[in-house]
Amino acid sequence: MSRIAYVNGRYLPHRHASVHVEDRGYQFADGVYEVCEVFNGGLVDKRRHLDRLERSLRELFIPAPMSRIALANVLEEVVRRNGVRDGLVYLQVTRGVARRDHAFPPAGTKPSVVVTARRSDRKGQEALAAKGVAVITVPENRWPRVDIKSISLLPNVLAKQQAKEAGAREAWFVDSAGFVTEGASTNAWIVTGGKTIVTRPAESGILRGITRTVVLDVAADLGYAVEERAFTVAEALAAEEAFITAATTVVMPVVRIDGHAVGAGTPGVVASTLRLKFHDFSEVS
Ligand code: PLP
Repeated sequence: MSRIAYVNGRYLPHRHASVHVEDRGYQFADGVYEVCEVFNGGLVDKRRHLDRLERSLRELFIPAPMSRIALANVLEEVVRRNGVRDGLVYLQVTRGVARRDHAFPPAGTKPSVVVTARRSDRKGQEALAAKGVAVITVPENRWPRVDIKSISLLPNVLAKQQAKEAGAREAWFVDSAGFVTEGASTNAWIVTGGKTIVTRPAESGILRGITRTVVLDVAADLGYAVEERAFTVAEALAAEEAFITAATTVVMPVVRIDGHAVGAGTPGVVASTLRLKFHDFSEVS
């Protein structure tokens, strides 16, 4: 089946799907995005992803490109046209096409909307989760508004590349006080020796991950103790378990940090249980 993308009102063959050279997303990274998991043909936590999208747009004064229902229909239609049962749907909204000028374009400039979908290799992901992944740590160098899901991701791109070159899957940003903020594309978690799950509060310094929100629900339901507080790299290295969360990875055990084993150096029972239970708690529609 050939891939189809949605671009500004049209469903196009993926290879012909393109935006104008003066799209502000292309020129200024002036836009926002969402990535939503597709599970058994349904969108995972669509409601929360659309809520967060609306918030990101509001924070950047980008008008909503269409109604929420219309946007949800486009997401579902792209998933359907691409025959995705398990995978990801990507949605990007930019401030639109206009003559290059840093300040906002004239009122009435239409935001641009792009939606793509792709299948993921569920077996491969499960195999990875059974082994666990490595992370490296890098100094936090992003702007303070990481609560906005902006397409402006250069520090994340550089950190991820550094991780890749080090044979790791993710890079954890560490703030100037030595606390882990989050991964380049995931939220960061540890499980202490006392079996308490620890993750940074989402009030500032991180993106409030949708997966993070659901994992907190799962943890509460399973009766795990949870502390929303910042943790240091030293604490993570001394932890029993570590893991990362995102729509792209669900719950992924972390078994090495900067080359040092976490706990036994194998995926822990808490992370594995949260992964197993995740889709019982997420809204799939
Ligand atoms: N933190 C960052 C920087 C991200 O880019 C992402 C996802 O892309 C997340 C956290 C996890 O968010 P979610 O669980 O909504 O995918």
